[in-house]
Amino acid sequence: MKSDSRLEKVLAAGKFAVTAELGPPQNADPEAIRKKAVGWASAHRFGGASPTLRSCVDGANITDNQTAIVRMSSIAAAAIAISCGVEPVVQMVCRDRNRIAMQSDILGAAALGVKNLLCLSGDHQKFGNHPQAANVFDIDSVQLIAMVRKMRDEKRFLCGDPIKEHEPRLFIGAVENPFADPFEYRVLRLAKKVEAGADFIQTQCVFDVEKFARWMGLVVKEGLHKKVYILAGLTPVRSHKALVYMKNEVAGMSIPDELIRRMESAGEPKEEGVKICLEMIEQVRNIEGVAGIHLMPIGWESITPVILERAGLLPRPEV
Ligand SMILES: Cc1cc2nc3c(=O)[nH]c(=O)nc-3n(C[C@H](O)[C@H](O)[C@H](O)COP(=O)(O)OP(=O)(O)OC[C@H]3O[C@@H](n4cnc5c(N)ncnc54)[C@H](O)[C@@H]3O)c2cc1C
Repeated sequence: MKSDSRLEKVLAAGKFAVTAELGPPQNADPEAIRKKAVGWASAHRFGGASPTLRSCVDGANITDNQTAIVRMSSIAAAAIAISCGVEPVVQMVCRDRNRIAMQSDILGAAALGVKNLLCLSGDHQKFGNHPQAANVFDIDSVQLIAMVRKMRDEKRFLCGDPIKEHEPRLFIGAVENPFADPFEYRVLRLAKKVEAGADFIQTQCVFDVEKFARWMGLVVKEGLHKKVYILAGLTPVRSHKALVYMKNEVAGMSIPDELIRRMESAGEPKEEGVKICLEMIEQVRNIEGVAGIHLMPIGWESITPVILERAGLLPRPEV
């Protein structure tokens, strides 16, 4: 094993993995993380068998100032999640730190018990609440992946200096958007991330299962599904308005009109959103090369255990 990550163990055992987003608050309240984590970690439903398995997910993604809006540090929030029995996947973007700060934070995260790191470019600051901020982008997402692998496997910092002991043993993730243009370029981009050292991939939200299946077809054709675990990103939506917003305002999204109509005519939009998500879980599970799902219920994290229970994905396997 490359790390001591539960997520890695689940995937390596060939089990269908489940990760979900757990967003840090826009304040310094540790309870905001604890409430969500404890809500996911009911001892009665999920944790009876083992004190280390207290969560309804195999990894909780802690976002890094997502949409470039200032939030509690993903590493600090991850340490709180760990204290609640939830294994975090720390997200790290290239927008806000140079290579010195990143390597320092990687060491710090590993020292705090973090075992999974998701390497991203990051949303541009112009979308967030500090549009005048300077961005860094000292290295890009592919270089970040390679840097983490070098620290773990070669026990060296990016400059080549040795990490004499206690190298960070992290399970390395990256993201990919199967829907951004040009379509054929997406698999090439994925291949670069795999080559750099990505162990797992979480995709942008899948609403267009047909296009996702086509992308997976190309992934399988290139044999990439044998080199990296692919988790399909899924977002349950609460309203017709939210879906229309994503279609019109979020770049690189593919949302079929049929889904928009379905949400528009729904008597109970929240229930319809859950039903759509459950149908998609079923559909992506049957696509060759899909190793799990990554739930991103933007601002609706309480729905995560409900969806997983109804999808028959609970309790999570012992590994
Ligand atoms: C699951 C998930 C979680 C996310 N979490 C966060 C978060 O916590 N915080 C946050 O700020 N953002 C987050 N994002 C946003 C993400 O960082 C941005 O959407 C980013 O544009 C894509 O990230 P990436 O790491 O895949 O970028 P990259 O793969 O590095 O690519 C960034 C963009 O630039 C394009 N590109 C890169 N290189 C080239 C090139 N040589 N020529 C042409 N085009 C190029 C890519 O095609 C892509 O569209 C998340 C996205 C996803 C899908």
